Amino acid sequence: MSCIFCKIIRGEIPSSCVYEDDKVYAFKDINPQAKVHVLVVPREHIASADAITAENSGAVAAVFEAIPKIARALELEDGYRVITNIGENGCQTVKHIHFHILGGEKLPENMGN
Ligand code: AMP
Ligand code: ZN
Repeated sequence: MSCIFCKIIRGEIPSSCVYEDDKVYAFKDINPQAKVHVLVVPREHIASADAITAENSGAVAAVFEAIPKIARALELEDGYRVITNIGENGCQTVKHIHFHILGGEKLPENMGN
């Protein structure tokens, strides 16, 4: 599998890990868009949120169970934003579902641009 996030999960590409468990891996975004910018991914390869099914939704649930733990570890008690981009119009560049955690500062109110 040539997927870059699968390679990161397997340790074939270096990353700055902030959290991991048997279903979830989280690491710092290489091009941060906020003071804190972390990507949370399921170890299972799912192309995007548009490919979530009854069969693979457990992996996504595990991501959302991990997010509050990650937020606590990153001291985001004042709040944060979770974003997932989907497809061409959503500007998704990596075709392995991932959830951006953005925080560490007051974020822009406008989420569209
Ligand atoms: P998206 O545009 O939603 O698909 O987000 C992909 C994200 O992956 C971008 O924010 C990139 O900066 C980030 N990214 C790409 N390659 C790496 C990498 N090797 N390590 C960490 N983050 C990466
Ligand atoms: Zn993948």
